[in-house]
Amino acid sequence: MIIGVLALQGGFIEHIRMLQSLQIGSFEIRKKEDLNKDMDGLIIPGGESTTMGKLLKDLDLYNDLKKKIQEGLPTFGTCAGMILLAKKIADKESAHFGVIDIEVRRNAYGRQLGSFLTEAEFKGIGIIPMTFIRAPYIEVAGPGVEILSEVDNRIVAARSKNILVTSYHPELTSDNRVHRYFIEEVVNGKAGVG
Ligand code: GLN
Repeated sequence: MIIGVLALQGGFIEHIRMLQSLQIGSFEIRKKEDLNKDMDGLIIPGGESTTMGKLLKDLDLYNDLKKKIQEGLPTFGTCAGMILLAKKIADKESAHFGVIDIEVRRNAYGRQLGSFLTEAEFKGIGIIPMTFIRAPYIEVAGPGVEILSEVDNRIVAARSKNILVTSYHPELTSDNRVHRYFIEEVVNGKAGVG
């Protein structure tokens, strides 16, 4: 198995390390030719969604990646990665990939709580550590979307078929269970398209 990790900007190294801890191979996606390699799954890291969205277009990766995700490539987006995958971004901004039926709010925790650590449940796994950094949350989840984590009544992790998203950064903790869930349930679980 091999996972492609989008490596244009942001925290991609930490995802690669998490995959290594699970003995899963990966490669970095930086340019169009990298998409010729076979991949069993895709990770879109945290960082800055506007910058990543612009780079995806400038480097001509956007259309090919969107097609692969729409055709069922198992995909995991954390934080900015979740924003890139969302169908709707609250307040004016247009969507990026727009492939999962959620509406997200960027920088949703305001200045004081810009970054914080907490522990909460991930459905099917149990209580896990969660690192939030200028994080978005999910304001609206469509009917086909399974809610996996909530913190203070806000949805912070969800899945729809081949797409998994978290507001927080599991790759910044020493707990690799969310990555294991992605590999076991989404990549190996024959998720279908959604
Ligand atoms: N605030 C960033 C954005 O809106 C996301 C932050 C992150 O990925 N840690 O893109």
